This record gives sequence, structure tokens and C-alpha cells, in this order.
Amino acid sequence: MFQPLPKVPDHPEVEKEILAWWEQARIFEKLRERNRGGRTFSFMDGPITANNPAGVHHGHGRTLKDVFQRYKAMRGFDQRYQNGFDSQGLWVEVEVEKSLGLGSKREIEAYGLAAFARACRDRVAHYSELLTRQCIRLGQWMDWDNDYYTFSDTNIEYIWRFLKVVSEKGWLYKGHRSTQWCPRCGTSLSQHEQAGEENYVEMEHPSLYVRFPLREREGEALVVWTTTPWTLPANVAAAVRPDADYGLTRDGRWVAAARYPDEEFVETRRGEELVGWQYSGPFDELEAQSGVAHRVIPWDEVALDEGTGIVHIAPGAGAEDFELSRVHDLPVLAPIDEAGRMLPPYGGFAGLTTIEVAEPVTSALRERGLLVEAGTITHRYPICWRCKTPLVFRVVDDWFISAQEIRQPMLDANDTVEWTPPQYKKRMDDWLRNMGDWNISRKRYFGLPLPFYPCECGHLNVIGSKAELLDRGVSGLDELEELHRPWIDAVLIRCEQCDATVSRIEEVGDAWLDAGIVHFSTLGWQNPTWIEHGYATGASAGLSGADLPDHAYWEKWFPADWVSEMREQIRLWFYSQCFMSVALTGRSPYRRVLTYEKVYDEHGKPMHKSTGNAIELNDALDRMGADVMRWLYCAQTPSEPLRFGYALADDVKRRFLTFWNSVSFFVEYANIAGFRPSFSSLEPSVSAPLDRWLVERTHAFVRDAEAAYEAYDTVTIMKSYESYADDLSNWYIRRSRRRFWNDEQDAFAALWYALVQTLRVLAPVMPFVTDELWRNLVQDGPESVHLAPFPEVAEPDRALLAEIDEVRRVVTLAHQARASSGLKLRQPLRRIIVEGANGASAHAEEIADEVRAKAVEFGAVESQLLVKPNLPVLGPRLGKELPTIRQALQAGDFEELAGGRFRVAGHELEPNEVLVERSGREGFAVASESGLTVALDTELDDELLLEGRAYDLIRSVNQLRKDEGYEITDRIVLTVPEPERDVVEAHRDWVARDVLATEIRVGDALAVEKS
Ligand SMILES: [Zn+2]
Ligand SMILES: [Zn+2]
Repeated sequence: MFQPLPKVPDHPEVEKEILAWWEQARIFEKLRERNRGGRTFSFMDGPITANNPAGVHHGHGRTLKDVFQRYKAMRGFDQRYQNGFDSQGLWVEVEVEKSLGLGSKREIEAYGLAAFARACRDRVAHYSELLTRQCIRLGQWMDWDNDYYTFSDTNIEYIWRFLKVVSEKGWLYKGHRSTQWCPRCGTSLSQHEQAGEENYVEMEHPSLYVRFPLREREGEALVVWTTTPWTLPANVAAAVRPDADYGLTRDGRWVAAARYPDEEFVETRRGEELVGWQYSGPFDELEAQSGVAHRVIPWDEVALDEGTGIVHIAPGAGAEDFELSRVHDLPVLAPIDEAGRMLPPYGGFAGLTTIEVAEPVTSALRERGLLVEAGTITHRYPICWRCKTPLVFRVVDDWFISAQEIRQPMLDANDTVEWTPPQYKKRMDDWLRNMGDWNISRKRYFGLPLPFYPCECGHLNVIGSKAELLDRGVSGLDELEELHRPWIDAVLIRCEQCDATVSRIEEVGDAWLDAGIVHFSTLGWQNPTWIEHGYATGASAGLSGADLPDHAYWEKWFPADWVSEMREQIRLWFYSQCFMSVALTGRSPYRRVLTYEKVYDEHGKPMHKSTGNAIELNDALDRMGADVMRWLYCAQTPSEPLRFGYALADDVKRRFLTFWNSVSFFVEYANIAGFRPSFSSLEPSVSAPLDRWLVERTHAFVRDAEAAYEAYDTVTIMKSYESYADDLSNWYIRRSRRRFWNDEQDAFAALWYALVQTLRVLAPVMPFVTDELWRNLVQDGPESVHLAPFPEVAEPDRALLAEIDEVRRVVTLAHQARASSGLKLRQPLRRIIVEGANGASAHAEEIADEVRAKAVEFGAVESQLLVKPNLPVLGPRLGKELPTIRQALQAGDFEELAGGRFRVAGHELEPNEVLVERSGREGFAVASESGLTVALDTELDDELLLEGRAYDLIRSVNQLRKDEGYEITDRIVLTVPEPERDVVEAHRDWVARDVLATEIRVGDALAVEKS
């Protein structure tokens, strides 16, 4: 017996039961045991930040990873299944600061770095456990007790090793430059962290036009424009474009002539003539300004599409300004401290933030008569990627790795990588071509301690391992609990050049170093002997049991066959892992990439907690179920934002019912017939054309899905599945109903085969419900669908499939034509005429049966063809020629080509570029599509009408049986009302057979009773 199915599946309920069973029956362990020692499929997990609960966007990425790992496992590949947690850096620090109520770096230091480090580790421990539970609930199979944590000492040591290598290559340097700075986090940020669209927001800022009075030209002044008043006290120069014209207005203002086309100038000069002019700065009395001689400098980049064409230059507060200071030897005045507050030499402004100081600066300018105009401007402005605070520029010392020498090798490495979707490969190339040097230092606390020990003798000591640290350390080693601040700061080492005692710089590393090294740190690169639990060191001790493998293991698993993360990771993880791997081995660390866009809500809007459209992962798991979510994730094109929401989930649930109902149908009839299948003879040998077609159709589905899995193309997997499920239900089962009723074993065998193969193909995408159905349908095979291999099938008979495909198209068009004529679906017709479907001609009987026509004729359909341009498609392609085409079509001046194409005015138009209407001659309903035309003879005689009424009667009686709750096998006595007497007299046997009536009487009203 098969277990009868409920009308609809309760996905979350099914999933909880299956999860418990997987655990109890050790299904995942059995799968790993089975595949151990087989061919390898190396997947490297990009670490998830163990910092907050997972969101539905994490669910997206995790689903894709799991789908392909499950598929590869079905194919017998041995896999590592190591999950990764990103566990140190600004991510964690900012959240811990919030939870501890710490508002600044000073407060962190007062709290104590040791306690702060412990709090960061605790947060990671808490959220990694929570994330693990969420991922298990989503169905992800990983080796959950052996995760890698980027804050382990082992991971840190491997980064040290990398830094030592780049230092030896001469790529490491300390740079003094102007960088984007977060005043809240108190650190500079790097180009790759900040480059995302999401790190820019529309903001309103002051817009000031300010006079800089000229020293040698009485009554005249330069006018500059600025949106950052806090930079004015640090002004040292004004830049003009040498080849632009500047004019002097009647009231003494110098501006670019191009910016003021209506102005009448009393004097005009080229920009180069202004160069060298001296002016009085707006705040010359400040201590910071003492000794500064303000002058005009040339700059080719001065914009003439905004402002006045004269640019205020403050090298301590802007990146380009700083570069100009080097060229023109300008003083660099740094106006703010690391918290973004004005420094003491700025007098009355000291202590104010860059925002607070705007008002006093504006007032002072007004009092001094220097303010020409004050307003506001709304523009795109960068914010901190982590804490969303608006950024400023500061000139600081940072550590960089030069990208100069590695750029081309990285481009070459990327050339060996297969990207899905393919257009992202170019995005990676673009990033690599334009990337600046890698700013690796952060002025923070709980992160990778940079192992740099600069000595006064001028030598930079770079420590490459913990062993080297222990060897060269002269103090602080006993208290070294792990490789983090504050413990590491206490360790002093001996300079290898001069033997002096040296201390570490205070900076920690960019978090992308942590994630980029994992191809080496987790796989045991250059590690001589395997160390059990050797990865679970430092802060990760007690959280993971991961081993540190030996170098042979690295050889086996490197490079990764596949990695998959979001598109924004191109400039983040894909970049950092490629950088580190190319530096260490000259090779890309991955062979293939699947990348994808963000998750949006179901209306295509970004999800935000503040707008109320965000969905918690746990809510979605509880309300939709993991299988439904996984379908949603897999069915959408990765190169577009993914839509996610409850209405879409309901739609998926509805669509899944097509297959669910097919299984339910099988179970019901197979139980009645006592059908007993055997997994060892799964593929049936059948002879009936319909069964043969189903077997071939199943082969095609398996093959198509397999090709899509191999191409990492989930969209095609889901499309193949849906079209197959539709064929199975709406063609095979519908056309075979009577055969199941008649107990035809071949039909059962063919349907069971189809259902079982579908479960195997769909298992990686919907692992829960497929296993639930598998355990019901397959009673003598592998205990779980995930332990069954992916089906191997013969190449399908594509010619036969194309024929039936054409039959189905004919039927669909016939239904369309019928609908347009207003005839009921049940009303039999005398004949239909089919044109342009020669493959279908061998199936006239099936077509006749499906469309309820007495005869099917293949031949020309007399009709009139009306062709119009499909403007949204054709417009962009044809442009100015469109009117000519439109006129020719209207005049009927075109030629119809094969496959629904048309030739008109020298152009060939594709089927999707035209809208075609056909009207039949009197008495016919016509429908047409892509070169196929179907005409229904709509004339009805008495015989046809009576048959139509018989169909109506059968339908009413069967509905009544259902309403009365009869079993499908119950025999009945049927009573029909007097007006239906002629129907019963003409078609008694047929009606009796179709409603299981042992007797038909004529009485008052339609009624059934059990016989
Ligand atoms: Zn910040
Ligand atoms: Zn030294």
C-alpha cells in the first residue's frame, strides 16, 4: 500500500519530520560514507559573517550552494562540506559596540581591549550556532562541527605568511595619503569595501559661494563654491583651469566665463594668467593658517559644469587636493582628528564635528563679508559600508599592497575561470584593471593583527608565523592567549637587522584578508604533517573541531572546482582570494563561479527593516517552508534582482500541486489496483504509444535537467521540471485516465517510473518533499532519494517528442479558437482543419479526442491574415524604418515564411516581432501561432447538440458523486429529470459507464444513490 496524500502538502510540517528522520537515520553520514574516496568535487565556502541571524538573502546563496553540492553527491563525488564563518573585523566590532553601548574608540579602550575581544568572540559563538540551526532548517548539508572561523590563530598565521611573501616581493609599503575615513569607526576604509552602490546615499549639504579677496588687486576676489564648509579653515590654494576663460564682474568677482553666459565681464583672462595670484584666505587668523601663502594653481581637471570654475583646495581634507599638494608643494593642513572633530589649532571651531562646524563657519564668512550666497544642495554622498556614517577625507598613514605587478597575473588567472552568468567575467576584469593598491590596515581592535614591526634602524620586520614570533619574541609571550589585541601588542621582538627591541604597529588588517586566505589555511598548504584539530586554534578553539590537513590534502583539493557568492563579492571576496592565491601560487583559487544579484521584495523593491518589507529567514521558513523558498531562489535569473515574498511563495505552492496531484492520483489508483512496483526494474518496457511517449519524455527531462545542473543553471532546471510536470499531468495522465481505471499495468509502470525519476531530478532543489514522496513511492530502493544516484537514461527519441509537442500545440490552438467562438469545451464538433503541422498528422485520432471533433483534416485553412508590428520589440530594432514596415504590413504587402516568420519590405521578421490575427471564413473559428493554424467548424446539428448534453450530464453526475462523498469505486443508481430523457435514451451505455451507474431512471430531479 502507498500512503494516501493530503490534498495539499504542509511544507513546514513535512520538513520538520524529514529533518528528524535524516538525523535519526544518519542519511547525510551515509551519503558521505558512500562517496568517500570517489572522484572529488571541491567547493570552497565563502564565509558568512557570524554576526546576526541569517536573512532571506543568505538563504538564497546557501540554497544555491546546497543544490549543487547535493547534485554532485548524487553523482558520487566526494566532497569536503566545510562551512566557513567570518568572525573578526569591523563587522563584529560595530555590532558589539552597539550591544555594549560603546560610542567611540575611547570608550572601547576604557572598556578594555581584552574584555572587548572576548565580547566579540562571544557574539560570534552565539551567532554561528544560531546560523547553523537556520542553515540546517533550510536543508543545507554541511560538516557542521568542523567549520572554519577566520579568527583562528591558524587562519591568522596563514595571512602573516602571505604578508611576509608580499613584503619579500617588495609590494608592501606604508603610504601617507588622503583616504575616505569613517569618523564613527575611527578608521580609513578601502576602495573595494566602499565601491558598492549601497554605500552612496542622497544627502542634503550646505552649498556656499565664498569670496577669496585678491592681494594685489584691490576690490577683486576669486569666488569658489563648496559643499564642505569644514574644509574652508584648511584652505591653502584655489585651482583654475589653465585653458578656460575667466571674467571679472562689475562688482569684483572672478569666475569662469562659461559658468555665467549672461554676465557682462569688465575684464576677461585665460586661466593660466590667473596662476600665481595671491589671495587672503577666509580664516588666516587661525593658528593652523600661520605662514600659509594662498595662491592660485593650475589644474586641468577643474569642472566647468558646476560651481564657479574656481576650486577651493584643502589638501588635508580631500583626495585630489592632496595629490595637488604634492605637485605644487602646498602645505597640508589636517583639520580634524580621528573622530571627525576640528583640532585645537582651529581656534573657536576646535572640538566641533564636521557637521556642527558648518553653521559657525557660515556665520563667520557672512560677518567678514566673504559670503556671496548660501543655500543647500542634495547630492550622492558616500557613507561607511559598515555603520552608515557619512565619510570624510583625512590624510593618514596606511599600509598598502601594491597592485602594480600582480594586476596582469590576476587578469590572466581570471581568464582561466568560467563565470556563470558569463557576463560577470568581464566585470571581474574591469575591477582588476581599475583596482588601486590594497589598503590593508585598519585603526581598530578585534581583527587580524598586522605582523609589522618597524625598527628605528629603518628595517621593517614582518613576522610570518607564530613559531617565528615565539622565536624572536623578547617579552609578553607568556600572556599570549591568542593572536589578537591586546595580547599580541604586549609581545616585543628583536630586530633582525640591529637587534633592537621593536613593537608591533597598532593596526589590524582588512577583513577581506581573513576570507581570502581560506584556500590555503583550511587545506593545509605547505603544512608538513596533518594536525588533528589543528585549525581550531586561538579564538576558534572550542567552537570547531576542524583539522589542519597536510600539503598532500591541499594538492588534492586546490583549486576549488566551484565557488558561489553574490555579485558584489567581485570586488570583495572573489578579488581578495584571487589576489592572495595569485601572489602565493600564480593560479586562480577557483575554476568556476556562480554569482547572483540581490534579493528584493516581491514588487521588485529593496528590502529594508525601515520600510517594513524585510522578511526574516525564520518567518519565511515557518510560513513558506524551505522547499518553497528554494524553488523561488532557483527559478529566477541570477543576473537580475531576485523577487521574494509570500504571494510568490503561494504561487509556487500552487504550481507544485501539479506534481503533487499526479503522485496523489497514482497512489489512489495504484492502491485500488494493487500495483506493486520494483525499483530494480524501474524503467518499464511498454508498447502503447502514450506510454512510449512518456518514457521518452522522461528521458528528455532527465537529460535536459542534467545539462542544466552541469551548467549551474537552476533556471533551466526549474523550467524543464515545470514543463515536464505539465506534460505528465495535463497530457499523459489526462489522456490515460480510463486505462488506470481499467487496471492497465503498463500505464501504472510508466507513471510510477515518471514520478520516481522526477523525484530524483528535483531532489537537490526540494530535498524535503521529494524525500517524503520517495519514502512513500519507493519501498524497495534506497531509503532516501538523496542516497539514490542521479538517473542515467538513454538519449530520448526527440523526433517522437517533437511530434507530440506539435499535437499539444494544435490542441491548445483549437481550445483558443473554441474560446473565441463562445462554444463550450464539452460541445462536440463535426470537424477541425489543421494547417502547418505535418508532424501531428499521425496523431489525428488523439487530436480528435482531445478537441472533441468527429474528424481532423490536414490541409489549407481559408483565412485572412492580419499582421501588425510588435512595437516594443520591433521599434528598437528598426528605428526609422518602422513606418515603412507598418504601411507594408497594413497593405497586406508581405510574404509568409516557414516557422511563423514574415518577409516585408526587405526585412525578415521573427515570430515575436509581429502580432498575427487570422479570421476564418463564415462558420469557422480560427486560431494561429508561429505558422500553425487551426480552424474549427462551428456548425452544430442535432446529433452534436445531444452529445454535448450527454457530456454535460456526465459532468453534473460526477460532481454530485464527489459532493456526496462517494468513493471512486462506488456503483450508483442514477435518476435524471424528465427533460434529459432523450439524452439517456440516445447514450444510455456511455453515460452509465462514465458515472458507474448500474441503473438509470427518469424521475423528478437529478439524484444519485448507492446501488
Ligand atoms: Zn563606520
Ligand atoms: Zn633595527
